[in-house]
Amino acid sequence: MTSAKQQYDVVVVGGGHNGLASAAYLARAGLSVLVLERLDHTGGAAVSAAAFPGLPARLSRYSYLVSMMPTQLVEDLDLDLRLASRPTASYTPVTRDGKPRGLLVERPEGEATRRSFAELTGGDGEYDAWREFYADVAGLAEVVAPTLLSPLPTERAIRGEVDPGVWRDFVTTPLGATIESRFQDDTVRGVVATDALIGTFASMHDPSLVQNRCFLYHLLGNGTGEWRIPVGGMGAVTDALARSAVQAGAEIITSAGVSAIRDSGDGAEVTWHDGGKSHTVSGRHVLANVAPWVLGILLGNGADPDGKPEGAQLKINVLLERLPQLKSGVDPAVAFAGTLHVAEDYSNLEAAYADAAAGRMPERLPGEVYCHSLTDPSILGDAPAGTHTLTYFGLHTPASLFAQDPAATKELAVARAIASIDEHLVEPIESCVARDADGKPCIEAKIPQDVEADLAMPGGHIFHGDLDWPWASNRARLETPAQQWGVQTDADSVLLCGAGSRRGGAVSGIGGHNAAQAVLASR
Ligand SMILES: Cc1cc2nc3c(=O)[nH]c(=O)nc-3n(C[C@H](O)[C@H](O)[C@H](O)COP(=O)(O)OP(=O)(O)OC[C@H]3O[C@@H](n4cnc5c(N)ncnc54)[C@H](O)[C@@H]3O)c2cc1C
Repeated sequence: MTSAKQQYDVVVVGGGHNGLASAAYLARAGLSVLVLERLDHTGGAAVSAAAFPGLPARLSRYSYLVSMMPTQLVEDLDLDLRLASRPTASYTPVTRDGKPRGLLVERPEGEATRRSFAELTGGDGEYDAWREFYADVAGLAEVVAPTLLSPLPTERAIRGEVDPGVWRDFVTTPLGATIESRFQDDTVRGVVATDALIGTFASMHDPSLVQNRCFLYHLLGNGTGEWRIPVGGMGAVTDALARSAVQAGAEIITSAGVSAIRDSGDGAEVTWHDGGKSHTVSGRHVLANVAPWVLGILLGNGADPDGKPEGAQLKINVLLERLPQLKSGVDPAVAFAGTLHVAEDYSNLEAAYADAAAGRMPERLPGEVYCHSLTDPSILGDAPAGTHTLTYFGLHTPASLFAQDPAATKELAVARAIASIDEHLVEPIESCVARDADGKPCIEAKIPQDVEADLAMPGGHIFHGDLDWPWASNRARLETPAQQWGVQTDADSVLLCGAGSRRGGAVSGIGGHNAAQAVLASR
């Protein structure tokens, strides 16, 4: 397939959900837009897939929950998209004094949550501290969230609206110190800390504060930080964006791998390949949905080994014949409906980080599990009654751990992840796993190397690189529209529109929106 024209107002390199968001905004504004995607489908990390032969279930293969996508963006683009709340926020099974116990956090939090804290921690102190802590976070989120679809505010402007104690605890102090000063219980501390580590490899005391930034993104979405389920799976998000873009007149070409971008200052030329033939198109603007590190290669700057991001997560997708029972006796339909934390006690998170940083696979792999189909069974198709999906997202498994022997190390990581879940189950998870048409267990695992090979996310980094603060430093140059929207690159006609733009990480469409606004502002 080839493009309808040789020259477009905007060429978008990459058809991830952010590239599609850009295309939809710009086509609606009347610009001619071409999206070029190397895979045979759009969506990047926001896709659904029938991962197991012979079974109809369509799992959210990589990303699975949505929080950061602003309601305004859904409305602006008329997205046919439903995000469902989960009745459980989290359940954390633990063994205390040799007995199976658990910490339940409902959504919304009610009496059962307070009771659960009291039973596990022996009083009301930890729950009171929890409520105070999250009220502080909400204060910060309510200031920052409304700015995400506007030109970048400066740090000074945001700071001026936030309580000084909150700013200190969440923005300038390593989050580990804040958590240690405000909570006593190892499990409660761990449940709080995990949001700082999803997609971020760091100690809770890392002086770079990358863990604080990751935490903020996880609590920021629409000012509430609620993580919701995309009904129909993550592919429904991408499909809604693609429909919106195409209906507005954007052209999308899949199986179109871009190999070079040449910037001429007032436009850029894009070379792409359809598997048989090379093509060239030009755009007044080129939007890069690819990671900044990949963009460097496309612009001819070479692959910079030192600047390459590194991902650190293990994603496992499972299809179950039935939900397993937990030793604590909690109803599995309650425990698995939210985020089920395993091996995520605070001390274990730090120990696992230290192990991985020293090149060892953590003995007790921290991770979290959740069942999509309890809230939205539509992704199961006509699978037999009782069938459920399970997603595991493991922390602290950096790409470097797998470098020497990816296959064997992946097997070890999966075995440890499963062991950390089995610790809390009456029967091992493998006894509940469904079998595919070939009789194989329905378990699919993705290490950072797989994510890089599948999606061209460098190093398998889920945010295309470490997250930035969602505001500009006080000294930042904010002269051009691209700088003002946090989407600039070194090439004048090329802007970032993906996760690697400032404020772009996660499934949000924010990177796409902001790049589109920068294009419109510069015309
Ligand atoms: C395992 C995993 C779990 C995650 N879980 C969550 C979650 O639950 N919630 C959440 O909010 N976020 C999650 N994330 C992060 C989130 O998915 C990403 O940050 C987000 O999807 C990035 O979107 P994007 O459109 O910017 O980029 P991408 O999704 O990376 O899309 C970029 C597109 O560019 C294409 N491309 C690359 N190179 C070329 C080329 N040379 N030519 C043409 N096309 C090219 C790629 O094929 C891809 O389609 C997760 C990510 C992963 C990997």
